[in-house]
Amino acid sequence: MAFPEHVDYIVIGAGIHGLSSAWRLAERLVEAGEEVEGRIVVLDKSGIASGATGIACGVVRNNYFQPAMRNLMAHSVSVWESDPDAFSYHPVGYMQISCETMHSDVAQIFEEQRAIGYESVFIEGEEASTSYMRGLFNDWQAQGITSVLHEKRGGFANNTSSMYGLAKKAEDLGVRIISGVEVKGFTAESGSRAVRAVETDKGTIGCKHVIVGAGPWVRDFWNMLDLPKQISVKGRDGEVHDNVDMWRYWQLEEGVLDVDPGILLTNDGKLPPVIHVDTDAPLISDVDGSVITEDMWGIYYKPDWHFRGIQGGAAPYKVPTPVDDVAIDPYGPSSPEFVSGPEFAHMWVSALAHCHKRFEGMMPKYHKEPSGGIGCFTPDSFPVLDHFHDNVSIIADSNHGYKMLGVGRLIADEVMGEKQELLNPFRFDRYETGELHPVSNSPFPWS
Ligand SMILES: Cc1cc2nc3c(=O)[nH]c(=O)nc-3n(C[C@H](O)[C@H](O)[C@H](O)COP(=O)(O)OP(=O)(O)OC[C@H]3O[C@@H](n4cnc5c(N)ncnc54)[C@H](O)[C@@H]3O)c2cc1C
Repeated sequence: MAFPEHVDYIVIGAGIHGLSSAWRLAERLVEAGEEVEGRIVVLDKSGIASGATGIACGVVRNNYFQPAMRNLMAHSVSVWESDPDAFSYHPVGYMQISCETMHSDVAQIFEEQRAIGYESVFIEGEEASTSYMRGLFNDWQAQGITSVLHEKRGGFANNTSSMYGLAKKAEDLGVRIISGVEVKGFTAESGSRAVRAVETDKGTIGCKHVIVGAGPWVRDFWNMLDLPKQISVKGRDGEVHDNVDMWRYWQLEEGVLDVDPGILLTNDGKLPPVIHVDTDAPLISDVDGSVITEDMWGIYYKPDWHFRGIQGGAAPYKVPTPVDDVAIDPYGPSSPEFVSGPEFAHMWVSALAHCHKRFEGMMPKYHKEPSGGIGCFTPDSFPVLDHFHDNVSIIADSNHGYKMLGVGRLIADEVMGEKQELLNPFRFDRYETGELHPVSNSPFPWS
């Protein structure tokens, strides 16, 4: 098929956001009785799921301290639930297991989940929490846990399989996905900043609208569009902070324990919910008995047949390199610089053993293949979902995004002219107005 010269909609990136945007754009055209063929292309310099989406742990949850995030996630969870088979989605639920410093935050999340009808159970008190956990896993042994939020919805999906399911939905409606095409820049309309054409290494494509779903590469598109590298941010306290970098990178620490995933079935032989533990209990090395940390720490994990073991991660760390110098390529496990190291493995496996007796002595089973990858974060670590230069929409999810299957759909609805209330709290101008999201006591930048 010839390389296109002009289409109506160019979507950049064949990850979760690009693909879900293209799927919804196509649905809208079909609903309006219009032709899709030849009107929507997705361009990716590598291929489907070759960015962050393809290495994500795949956890889908609602547990957020910020009401706007919770509403957005509830919407996305319904999209996952709409076709679990196509999306390789496992609706096993999700648990936020916390120490006392997070108790009131999580209690608030539970109340607000009730208010929006998102089903969850909240257990309070140390004894009740331990007993609830032992009802699921008889070897549960984490100390100092005083609350358990058990979300009955959510769970996880298999990162690449789900994207092939999503790509099929888009292609079945007439979307063309072109791999191996690198976007190099944009041509503006004369006398305006609107984009008239997208320049690629294979040729220039004219267009009416562009959607950028470039994950960690959003920094490069932001620069190509001449958007500000540094901005002023008005804090929730009204104080204005000038010259704040628009982007920063964090390294996501994840890995796999190379054991039969069935080792983590529940007492009654079922797939367990995804487990997330945040605690300030001292973390003792399962290797040599030394103290790894006495500060707050957190891990998440799940049995995963796709990753062939117990897969999960811990809190990320900030990449100290100046933002424009961060080497995004080669990405993920292929990066010579940004992969999870032995310190992560030591911490994460010791933390698993802290929680379950069954993981004691398992350090030698840690899978030593490279894993993890970097994510690009906004100044407040929450997504920017907005439209720029008249006809460019950017989905910059601040690394929250595998679970956000519904966001591309909402953006596509906006491109089609219907403003979406769920997206309003994620506009770029919040940094100027100071309408920032509340901050929780979680050790993770994304809770
Ligand atoms: C290790 C790790 C684990 C994670 N786990 C979870 C999780 O469990 N749950 C969760 O909700 N989120 C998770 N995330 C975050 C989530 O993966 C990302 O937020 C999300 O996948 C971003 O999707 P995207 O579509 O924006 O970008 P990506 O999936 O990164 O896709 C961007 C695409 O753009 C393409 N591209 C880049 N530059 C160009 C160019 N110049 N021209 C053409 N194409 C280009 C790339 O090839 C890539 O395919 C995790 C992230 C990491 C790194």
